[in-house]
Amino acid sequence: MAKVTIDKAKCTNCKKCIEVCPVQVYGMENEQVVVKDASKCILCRACEVNCPHAAIKVED
Ligand code: SF4
Ligand code: SF4
Repeated sequence: MAKVTIDKAKCTNCKKCIEVCPVQVYGMENEQVVVKDASKCILCRACEVNCPHAAIKVED
């Protein structure tokens, strides 16, 4: 299963990852962008590529 992590020190909650993820791995919790369900991840890396602050790490 993929491991998806957000570096909270870098993340600005811009929601780009929510927009680009085709399988809704990300969501909102207490007004913060969080990894909701990494088990859905298809390793497309769209979130990593599109995060403007390089805050996301996707590992196989
Ligand atoms: S795209 Fe990057 S900076 Fe924007 S909410 Fe997602 S993790 Fe945070
Ligand atoms: S790698 Fe693709 S499927 Fe996985 S969390 Fe990022 S955008 Fe979603």
